[in-house]
Amino acid sequence: MLCIPFNRPFTIGTEFERIQQSIENGHFSGDGFFTKKCHALLEETLLVPKALLTTSCTHALEIAALLLNIQSGDEVIVPSFTFVSTVNAFVLRDATPVFIDIRPDTFNLNEAKLEQLITPRTKAIVPVHYAGVGCEMEAIIQIAEHYGVPVVEDNAHGLFGKYKQKYLGTFGSLATQSFHETKNFSCGEGGALIINDQEYIERAEIIREKGTNRSRFFRGQVDKYTWVDLGSSYLPSDMLAAFLYAQLEARQEIQARRRQIWNYYSSNLQDWALSRGIRLPIVPAHCEQTYHMFYLLMPSLKLRSALIAHLKAKGIHSTFHYLPLHLSDMGRFFGGKEGDCPVTESVSDRLLRLPFYNDLTESDQSRVVAAIKDFSEFF
Ligand SMILES: *Cc1c(COP(=O)(O)O)cnc(C)c1O
Repeated sequence: MLCIPFNRPFTIGTEFERIQQSIENGHFSGDGFFTKKCHALLEETLLVPKALLTTSCTHALEIAALLLNIQSGDEVIVPSFTFVSTVNAFVLRDATPVFIDIRPDTFNLNEAKLEQLITPRTKAIVPVHYAGVGCEMEAIIQIAEHYGVPVVEDNAHGLFGKYKQKYLGTFGSLATQSFHETKNFSCGEGGALIINDQEYIERAEIIREKGTNRSRFFRGQVDKYTWVDLGSSYLPSDMLAAFLYAQLEARQEIQARRRQIWNYYSSNLQDWALSRGIRLPIVPAHCEQTYHMFYLLMPSLKLRSALIAHLKAKGIHSTFHYLPLHLSDMGRFFGGKEGDCPVTESVSDRLLRLPFYNDLTESDQSRVVAAIKDFSEFF
């Protein structure tokens, strides 16, 4: 019996051709032909003033922290229910993380708890559009503007998703994307910084180019390039951009595949889940999701562990995440303790993610569904 993995790296088929073109172009380093193609595609699709490819979403978040001049003692509000990089990029600049709990429906940060966490030291709010379902951006932006705090959207799951008809990643001053192998569009490792607030563009280019004004030099705006600010090497090779461009060009096909996979799970598991107190993903009507993942919210940790083991015995790999950041070693170092984020703690124990990748076949999916329905031990 063949195993069904949790994730499988995906190629659309035109990646080689694009990489070959990139090699023929003779420009292998960053900001070549395909990097510019990716920038233009993102800017024209999302209607944003600037998109910059980076070596990862983590690095895009690090650029954001540098752009916001995050310093020792500054506070950054982040959900505890997210990937490490959402917070670590700011802690690298010596920020103190302030963890916010999530909404029980979408598992996005709970905007009703935001205002009470803001202090004079709050320097950023970092919403994560979990599973590519938009956070309540209207309320978040309103609070952020009231207190003059910039918003950085961690949009690793949400490229081309929308909240109230507007693309995710276009609400905050800055937003970050991931093109890691596990995301909807990938080049293995990669990311992007989306800049919505024009005032950050020039400095973002400098930080991304090792703290030099090399981008301006290449545009002929200065006649020498030199060290002008903090920075690092945050540009991907143009060959990686070529790989990514092949996938971004096929974005409609890729999203359509994922929609079909998501809908199959949803329609085939709905009745089963309902009758057993298991919750499927909730997508509010005003959100266009990106079909980044499909999960079950089990009634208990015990049942989740049992279902994972049951699926594993049938060669199906399911998984869970995130371990609450406020209860990690680093989170506890910053004062995190049990009970700080009760919804996060509960969801983290009960969430189970099903196999989900662009070329997951319907016959494999039907095997997953049958195996789940066969899980009767506790029901
Ligand atoms: C994947 C992910 C990241 C990190 O992305 P990389 O490109 O691997 O650095 C950050 N935040 C979230 C929410 C993610 O899912």
